[in-house]
Amino acid sequence: MTSYWAADAWLPDGCQSAVRIRIEGGRFADVQPGVARDPGDEALPGVVLPGLANVHSHAFHRALRGRTHGGGGTFWTWREQMYALATRLDPDSYLDLARAVFAEMTLAGYTAVGEFHYLHHDRGGRGYADPNALGAGLIQAAAEVGIRLTLLDACYLSGGLTAGGHLPLDEIQQRFGDSDIDAWQARVALLRPAAGLRLGVAVHSVRAVPAEALSAVRNAAGEGALHVHLSEQPAENAACQAYYGRSPTQLLDDHGVLSTRTTAVHATHLTNTDVAILGGSGTTAGFCPTTEADLADGIGPARRLFDAGSPLALGSDQHAVIDPFAELHGLELHERLASGERGRFTPAELVTFASESGYRSLGWEGGRIEPGAPADFVVVRADSVRTAGTRPEQICYAATAADVEQVVIGGRTIVKDGCHHLGSPSLLLAAALDRLGER
Ligand SMILES: [Zn+2]
Repeated sequence: MTSYWAADAWLPDGCQSAVRIRIEGGRFADVQPGVARDPGDEALPGVVLPGLANVHSHAFHRALRGRTHGGGGTFWTWREQMYALATRLDPDSYLDLARAVFAEMTLAGYTAVGEFHYLHHDRGGRGYADPNALGAGLIQAAAEVGIRLTLLDACYLSGGLTAGGHLPLDEIQQRFGDSDIDAWQARVALLRPAAGLRLGVAVHSVRAVPAEALSAVRNAAGEGALHVHLSEQPAENAACQAYYGRSPTQLLDDHGVLSTRTTAVHATHLTNTDVAILGGSGTTAGFCPTTEADLADGIGPARRLFDAGSPLALGSDQHAVIDPFAELHGLELHERLASGERGRFTPAELVTFASESGYRSLGWEGGRIEPGAPADFVVVRADSVRTAGTRPEQICYAATAADVEQVVIGGRTIVKDGCHHLGSPSLLLAAALDRLGER
């Protein structure tokens, strides 16, 4: 039994003071607000939040940070730079980079990550000896770092969508694609569950998965998580409308893809009908505010989706920023810019999106500090230059990843005194990026 005491902690019914937290067997055994500290309690140095989920990650995109801003462009020109990076990765460099990125995530306060994994094969598009060699690297990296991982193996069968139909995979996309839906299913079936790991699947997008394959991906998800990139760019909507005569949301709905186990990532450019369909199906909307700003995607209808019935969750996607607080207040600030109103979400709603809703999106229980839940929590300093003077229940609007002092996942201390148990993530990143020739 480990016993902690916090001056302030976010519990399911809000921010509470003087909270004793006892942990046994990797779960919260007892949570008591309003009690004095026992001499045997370890004092936690700040405001305690539940574990924070990053529901949308492409770990290898981290290698592009700070390197894509020189020539202007759009989402589509950024994608060319991402494709060029993808050609240089191999299983060893992919593992090194993923380990460093997952370490950076935990240092920032993330305790669970959904890796939307679409780089599957070698440079010629051929399978490795282990057909899931790259996915295995992600699993190994997460285990070494100590972060919970949901591996979302993405089905990717076509190179794009036009008014005339789907395009073949180009040379680079051969690394992403399986030859057909049966080959994708056969490869995914080889993945095995493990401690700290959940297996889910993904429809890369309606651009990359033709309608006739959608129900097979849905069935492969079973009771697990199913994620899909949805309407990040107007061009996807236009192509889908031109070819199928309906929006991407309507197409997914027609094929049974949308449900309470599904997360639609981005959900930026939606019609009123799309919002009603997503909300009515209970599909989670996975917003990635720093990426959506960085890639000039636009501002999605977060509040309208939430009001329609969609839980919201947050992800860092291409990792131009890895900071759960930047995503959390980014969601609120985008709403303010678009609406002219403050307080579009309450502090409690924002914390729930970042924690419990994110956990559920990734197929994990928890994201709550309560007896019986997995013992995941994050301690945020309340006395830094950024956070001094903030009210505990509003600290998420002021804190950044730099204020994360301690991270516990499954009762295990992963970050202590602002240091990761693997050592310096910046050194891990430097070594991984050197290997790729990205420095
Ligand atoms: Zn993505």
